[in-house]
This record gives sequence, structure tokens and C-alpha cells, in this order.
Amino acid sequence: MSWHPHLWHPTTQVATSPVPLQVARARGCVLELQDGRQLIDAISSWWVTLHGHAEPSIAAAIGRQALQLEQVIFANFSHQPAEQLATRLAALSGLERLFFSDNGSTAVEVALKIAWQWWRNQGSDRRQLIAFEGAYHGDTFGAMAVGDRSVFSAPFHDLLFDVARISWPHTHWGDATVEEREAHALQQLEQAFAVPTAAVILEPLIQGAAGMHMVRPSFLRAVEERAQAHGALLIADEVMTGFGRTGALFGCQRAGLKPDLMALSKGLTGGFLPMGVTMASERLYRGFISETPEQTFFHGHSFTANPLGCAAALASLDLLQHDPVRYQQFNTRHIPLLEELAQQPLVKRIRCQGTVAAFELDAGSTSYLNPIGKQLQRHCLDHGVYLRPLGNVVYLLPPLSISDTQLEQCYAAIRSGVEALSP
Ligand code: PMP
Repeated sequence: MSWHPHLWHPTTQVATSPVPLQVARARGCVLELQDGRQLIDAISSWWVTLHGHAEPSIAAAIGRQALQLEQVIFANFSHQPAEQLATRLAALSGLERLFFSDNGSTAVEVALKIAWQWWRNQGSDRRQLIAFEGAYHGDTFGAMAVGDRSVFSAPFHDLLFDVARISWPHTHWGDATVEEREAHALQQLEQAFAVPTAAVILEPLIQGAAGMHMVRPSFLRAVEERAQAHGALLIADEVMTGFGRTGALFGCQRAGLKPDLMALSKGLTGGFLPMGVTMASERLYRGFISETPEQTFFHGHSFTANPLGCAAALASLDLLQHDPVRYQQFNTRHIPLLEELAQQPLVKRIRCQGTVAAFELDAGSTSYLNPIGKQLQRHCLDHGVYLRPLGNVVYLLPPLSISDTQLEQCYAAIRSGVEALSP
């Protein structure tokens, strides 16, 4: 096995990484490799595979749509799949307007651009954006700028605009300091609002790439209250947390937030096709309607509202709405298995929210580059489970269709792996 002579893989250091595994097919939670090995996809392939791989009803919906209308320019034209999706997501999210793009990063870029231009269309010069420590909002420049500075963005720091950065008081089982850290963060926020602020952006409940850093809903409501008091817009980046991942359809609903803008992608199409959407309130939409051409939102991608993506998203919503218990009660499946893991001395700072469970390996550095996660990853691969720890943070974020036996197999692989790592 060697590296392909013409491919360039994402976030992969060829000098130190193993050659990628060849996947032949996938079904449900299982990836089947070219050599016949089977792996449980315990992280939903970068958090996108919502129900399961090759989910038949979504595959069929895409097939039907492909024979009907595969793509059309979305300026001058509209179509049924886009209109149906907009109607359904507006009702489900509480935000009336849907703007299409291609992925999570672009959904965030669009939210930032709408927020920024909306103020300018109002004749306001509010310039500050507020974001949180540890935030990850994507790899394009605007998304990188609001994301925390990290090894991902390091080469580009000189090109990124500044934001006010507030600490993120993430918590875990048995955390004794959370209230103090929340109070500190809210104080920082209050100080930041001394500068006229266009918008606050956050990942509701769970910062994903930071290492599944979870905050309490009451903290987020306090942030929202302050944003409202200072007239700033609230942008919820639900690219990871959307579509049931936190135990409610959206993290904002679980936390009790009512944002002005919401970025969605990943699970939107059930993980079948790349698509992003930015939901916006009617109030923001109205701020762009004008006889002045400069007040138009001049943003659009070639594949805007791709009908295949819309058809996949509609079929995925059907599945979610048909069986909400599957995501609503997922945490009750994680918790007993996490309690068992908690017995291991290396396992620290356990947390769980909806379908997402995480803990840290107590191994010195908490950096993304800490190699201990890679050691555990290799062990789990040998035991038929695919994980992708974030540094020393190990997490599970499986497709909703994972069976109890498969979930137990994931935890068994982790347990034996952690035992093997223990000094
Ligand atoms: N926002 C969040 C919260 C994310 O987790 C991600 C991707 N991990 C993104 C934005 C960027 O999404 P994409 O990779 O589809 O551009």
C-alpha cells in the first residue's frame, strides 16, 4: 500500500501518517475495506453520516431526483425541492429564510457576511465580532478568522481579521469550577460589549473541533441575554450540533436560544451530499430589500440549492421526524458505558450531550498534536472500530442507526485500548 501519486488528502501530514485505508463500500455504521475488513464508523465520517451509510431511502430519493432535475442555476430559477426544504427548515428552526451554500465553512461565511452587511444596510458602523476561545468554524478565511487561532490557521494568522475573544467555560462530570469560570466569561463578555458589536458567534452547547467542549445551557442563555441587551446579532454555528446531535433537533432548542442566524451542514443531507444552509430571521432578510443595488446580498455559489442535495435533505428530515426518540434518548445509551469507562485511571473529564460522548486521556498535553490519541486509534482499528481522537480527547459521535451491540463494541475497544496505554 502506498500513497496515490495524484491525490492530496485533507489535514494529513504525509511524512508521519499511515497510508489511507481503501474503503470499498459502506452500509449502516460499517465501513467495509477493500481487503474485506470491517470497521464501525464511530465518528460518522467527520460527523456527517447522520442515520447510516448508504441509507436506502436517501439513496432512492437522490436517484429519483437525478432523473428529474439534477442541477439548475438558482438565480432566475427556483424548484420544488429547494422550496420544500426551505419551508420545512423554517418551521423546524424558527428562522424564516434559507440561504444555500456548499458546506459548513460557507454556511458560516454567509452568516458572517449577512450579519456584517445587514448593519451596513441599516447605516450602522458596528465593527466588532465576538467569538469564543477554542471555536472552530471552518477553513475558509472568514470562518478561520472567527475561529480560535490554532495549528490549523497558524500559517494564515497575518491575513485574519481580529475578533474579541471570550473564554468558553466548558464542563464535565464532577466539575467543581464551572460556575466561577462562567462568571469570568460573562464578565469578559460584558467588557467586550463596550465596543459596538455586530454579532456574537458560537457553537451551541458543544465546541466540536476544540475537543467536544460542552457548556451548560444556562451559560448560553446568559450570553444571549447580554447580546440582546447590547443589540448584537447572535449567530449559531450548528454545523456539527444540528439535526439531533445534541438530543434536540438543534442545539439552540436544547439550550433555549433564539439566534438571528444559524449555519447548518454535515447532517443536513444525512451526510450524503455536500450542502450548507444559513437560516436567517425575516427581520434580517427585510434589511436587504431596497431600490439601492448595493444593498443586495451579492453572494452565490455555482451549486446553490443543488436539487440532489435538497432531495437528500428532505429524505433525511423524513427519517429524523419519523423517529425522534432515536436522537432524543441517545445519551441514555452512552451514559452507562461511560460510567464503566470512568473506572479507568487514565480517563478524565467525561462529558456527554445527546449522541456525543467524550473524555480525555490524562496524558500531559491537551494539544491537538498529543500523540496518545493516535495510539488509541491504532488499537481500536485492530479491534474493528474507527475513531479519530482530537489530541488527547477521545469521542464517539456515531450514526443514529448504531445498534447496542455495535456501540458496546466501540466502548469495549476503547476500554481495552485505554488499559493497554495505562502505565
Ligand atoms: N463549523 C463547525 C462547528 C464545524 O464543526 C465544521 C467542520 N468540522 C465547520 C464549521 C466547517 O464545515 P465544513 O468542513 O463542511 O466546511
